[in-house]
Parts: sequence; structure tokens; C-alpha cells
Amino acid sequence: MSQQNGSRSTEGARVELQELVRVFGRTRALDGFSLDVEPGELVALLGPSGCGKTTALRALAGFEPVDSGRVLVDGTDVVRVSPQDRDMGMVFQSYSLFPNMSAVTNVAFGLRMRGVRAGARRAKAHEILELVGLEEHGEKYPHQLSGGQQQRVALARAIAIEPRVLLLDEPLSALDAKVRTGLRDQIRQLQQRLAITTVFVTHDQEEALSMADRVCVMRDGRGQQTATPAELYSRPTSAFVAHFVGVSSRVPATRDNGTVVLWGRGVPVRNPELTSREIDAVLRPEDVTISADGTGSGAVVHKSFLGATTRVTVLVEGVEVRVDVRSDQASDLSHGDRVAISVVARDVLISPRGEEDVLEDV
Ligand code: ATP
Repeated sequence: MSQQNGSRSTEGARVELQELVRVFGRTRALDGFSLDVEPGELVALLGPSGCGKTTALRALAGFEPVDSGRVLVDGTDVVRVSPQDRDMGMVFQSYSLFPNMSAVTNVAFGLRMRGVRAGARRAKAHEILELVGLEEHGEKYPHQLSGGQQQRVALARAIAIEPRVLLLDEPLSALDAKVRTGLRDQIRQLQQRLAITTVFVTHDQEEALSMADRVCVMRDGRGQQTATPAELYSRPTSAFVAHFVGVSSRVPATRDNGTVVLWGRGVPVRNPELTSREIDAVLRPEDVTISADGTGSGAVVHKSFLGATTRVTVLVEGVEVRVDVRSDQASDLSHGDRVAISVVARDVLISPRGEEDVLEDV
């Protein structure tokens, strides 16, 4: 791959994980996990603790053997290829820089391993440090750099070898909130500029939604739904995804001659193929509207100011429902006010009643 002025002439690789299984004792860390990543795409693996994100990333990198399944890079199965021969760059959660090497020597390390001459690798390391905005800091040692700067060096080290695939394992989670937001934009811009196929592990939904082209929500070693952030938010295919990505309320619904009935009215349903007898409707705060008529079946129990909107929690027939209301309208609402509630969504997701959401460790 050639690289000039920080832009590449070649596209990233296509990655396909096919039916990966990895068992540790009685735990199926990967239980038939599949994922396709397009060349140059950034896909985030998102899910609760223990759902298999890191195992999937390590299996892709070659650090974790798999019991079965295939890992294809540009169509070639690399399952038996050693990590160093897979041509992937990796950035970990903790700063994994060599403490006794300056930033520039850290960045040049992979090039040295690949037999690049001293002069050429120093020049390249400086070029990449410039790309991550650290050209002034090349001679500093890790302990002389801030956490955010160390992660930028780690990123520079990973991309210096011009990997076919970049793997990021919670690279921002050890940083404070402000540095994290800045660095996430920087990583995204760099990844797009270099068009490196990237897989990014995070348990932070905001991070996943703001950075990724597509997000794969994982649960129990399997992919639940892989979609663009907008689609994942607006068209979740399960209550689990709806709860994990964004805010949602579950409200018991009934069926009447094939019509799903919620608060006494029929509502259009997104997944009418679900045949469970006992069902809940899964509602986003903006799927519902309230009007303060003083006689409705709901009662305001809580208000949370979010800026332009206020999230109002309404108790309806014993169930709490969260509703987003324009803040200028919400200012008139007080605790205990009676409100009428209705569904304004084009269609609603239904889910088997009481289906385990496995949200306790989210
Ligand atoms: P987290 O967000 O907490 O890092 P994760 O989604 O990355 O979680 P993994 O680290 O992939 O999850 O772990 C998946 C499951 O496999 C967990 O139940 C974990 O305890 C188990 N596991 C992972 N590695 C090993 C191992 N080397 N030996 C035994 N069990 C393991």
C-alpha cells in the first residue's frame, strides 16, 4: 500500500467472520458469531459485558483461536495464520506503549520488525505522528505524555505499518470524557481519510453510534442486529436492541382479532409476524405524545430536562412510560398532573411479554 500525504491509494480489506465458535469451559464466548465488514468501513461491536466483543476482536486478530468458523480477509481464510502475519494493527484499552521508548521509536517499532531501514522508519514515524497531531512530541517518553496523547501514539503505532485492518479494543475507555469525545472524532476522521477497514469494540452506545458506519449489537456470543446507527435506533428488531441502544419503555399490549391494541386503540405493528399471545409494545420516547387535559389515564411522575426536550415519565395503568416533550410545553406539567397519552409512531415494535432483556449488567 502506498501512502502519500496521509491518503492511501488502496482501499481497505473486506473482512468476513463466519459462524465463529469459541468455548471456554461452560461459556460459549462466541456462539456462531458472523459479521461482514466492507472495505474501508468502521463497524463497532457493542454489547453488555461478557457478550463476546473482545473474544470476537481477538479471534479476528489471531490472538484467540476459534473452535470452529472462518475468518476471511479479502476472501482468504486466515484462521491458521499467525497474528503477526495477518497484517492488522491493534490498539488496546490500556496504553500499551513501550515505556522505555520515545513516541517516535514506539511508532517506528512495527516498521523495525518488518525490516524497514532506520532512516526510512524514522521519517515514516514522524509523518504518522504528524497525522495524529503529535509532531511536537516525538521525543517524549510515554510517562511524559497525557493519556489521550499516549492513545494517539498507540494509534499511530498501529497505523504506521499500513495494516489491512485496524482493530480498536475500547481505546477510549480509560480517558476522561472531554478527551474521549475529541479523540473519537479524530480517530473517525483519520480512519475515513486512510480508508482502513476498522472493527471497534465498545460498551458505550454513544461512542458506537457517533463513530461507526454500522453497529453490531452482540448478546451471548451472537450478533443480535447489525445496522447503521440511524436504523438501529429507529428500527430495532428486538426489545433487547431497543433497550441497549437508546431509551425505550415496555407497555403490555393485547391482541384483538389480529389488531394489536394499546391503551384501548389499535396500533400499526412493525413485526406482525410475532405470534406470541402475550406481548409488550416497545416504545421510544418520541413514539408517544401526551396532552394535559386534566382527565387522561396517565399521571406525570417525573421530569428530566434535556435541553430542547424534556423527558417526562408518565404512569399509565401501572406502567411507567417515558415521553419526550418540547421543553417549552413541558414547563406547564407538574408532578401528579393527569395527561392523555397516545401513540404517534408510524409503527411499533412488539416483543414477547416479559422476554428476558438481560439488562442487569448493561
Ligand atoms: P467486556 O465488555 O466486559 O470486556 P466482552 O463482551 O468483551 O466483555 P469477552 O471478554 O469476549 O466479553 O468474554 C466473553 C465471555 O467469555 C465472558 O463470559 C468471559 O468471562 C469469557 N472468557 C473470555 N476469555 C476467557 C478466557 N480466557 N477463559 C475463560 N473465559 C473467558
